[in-house]
Amino acid sequence: MTAPRTIVIAGAGIGGLTAALALAAQGFRVLICEKTGRLEEAGAGLQLSPNATRILIGLGLQPRLAPHVTTPASVSIMTARSGGEVIRLPLGSARDHAPYWLVHRADLQSALLGAVTAHPDIELRLGCPVDTFRAQPGGIAVNDESALALIGADGAWSTVRRQVFPETRPQFSGLIAWRGTLETSRLDSDLFPHGVQLWMGPKAHLVVYPVSSGERINMVAIMPGAVMQPGSSDTGDTGEIRRHFAASHWPANARAMIESVENWRRWPLFTIQDGGMWHEGSVALLGDAAHAMLPFAAQGAGMAIEDAAVLAQCLGTAGHDAAGIAPALERYAQLRQPRVTRVQRTARQSGQIYHLRGPMALARDLTMRALGAGRLQARQDWIYNWKL
Ligand SMILES: Cc1cc2nc3c(=O)[nH]c(=O)nc-3n(C[C@H](O)[C@H](O)[C@H](O)COP(=O)(O)OP(=O)(O)OC[C@H]3O[C@@H](n4cnc5c(N)ncnc54)[C@H](O)[C@@H]3O)c2cc1C
Repeated sequence: MTAPRTIVIAGAGIGGLTAALALAAQGFRVLICEKTGRLEEAGAGLQLSPNATRILIGLGLQPRLAPHVTTPASVSIMTARSGGEVIRLPLGSARDHAPYWLVHRADLQSALLGAVTAHPDIELRLGCPVDTFRAQPGGIAVNDESALALIGADGAWSTVRRQVFPETRPQFSGLIAWRGTLETSRLDSDLFPHGVQLWMGPKAHLVVYPVSSGERINMVAIMPGAVMQPGSSDTGDTGEIRRHFAASHWPANARAMIESVENWRRWPLFTIQDGGMWHEGSVALLGDAAHAMLPFAAQGAGMAIEDAAVLAQCLGTAGHDAAGIAPALERYAQLRQPRVTRVQRTARQSGQIYHLRGPMALARDLTMRALGAGRLQARQDWIYNWKL
């Protein structure tokens, strides 16, 4: 039997671990139940913009993350049409002391894990899937533990969501993210991306940036494809990438980077439709469980981190009384949904713009140049300048 001020979190991904730290900072005891027996090095690079890094720094994670992050000077938007740069957006100095970070997901997860395991009020149970839960007086029974609330931070294929909102299912976008890394030293110095490089091309795009303090380069190639097995990644046939990023459409420099990757894996991109339900009684969803999105705004983990901070603030304001939990979770959902829906739409629209072809691609490139770096950057302000 767990103590009465306990919150159970299903899932020890970026969202679940951040939520545990934020809830513990509000005086809750947190039990994280993670399905897998070992936290694997899943995924590759992540861009974390100031709206997310501000929260991580506030939770005291900067010393653990500093050795692993890279702070890019700019985002270069490149076009496959000419092989050159359309425009460079300086990322500038940190916004309100919050930097833009490039980090390997495994480094972020282990920094969060280090803080979680050092915290006296957080318990992490590995090999502990959340599969059954039911409402009971004063809260919820989860895997035979009593708690005030259950937070489903168990990813796009969430078991918690399936039980509470069975009608919400992940939808396949028709796109595959091929993700891989390579040692920086393997890339010719003239190809080395000093900041983030975003290549736009016909029905595809490519994102390249350094991770692991610049020792490795992270590469993501987005293109149409079929799903092998929903909910998992696989090594696939790398010939598919070479064929899609063919010399007829893609310049030699982009193709040389693609050729240098050592460990491609394909991730079918599934999304959760905007505007779904996030909360029912003492149960709430967070991160990809609530809003798995296309990664084209580089905000999926960022939104999970923001969710964690808002959730903890709402529950903290409600106090540790069971009667305040459901209204606090409702408030959390109301505060988060409009912003997350806007980010989901922005990500979809960005993909459509990046993948234009022919005269439309030329018009896009000319429009971006005409708008200029200042105006293009100001379009991100509503995302990056968000604060709790
Ligand atoms: C190609 C690509 C590039 C991306 N780039 C970026 C980026 O640059 N910036 C950014 O912010 N985001 C990015 N994202 C998105 C980001 O990776 C995700 O949004 C984020 O990792 C989601 O975290 P999460 O904690 O919600 O879910 P997950 O990371 O999926 O974690 C869920 C956890 O729950 C566990 N679990 C599952 N079921 C159960 C259960 N029943 N009981 C207990 N545990 C369970 C799982 O094992 C897992 O550990 C990218 C995504 C992709 C695909």
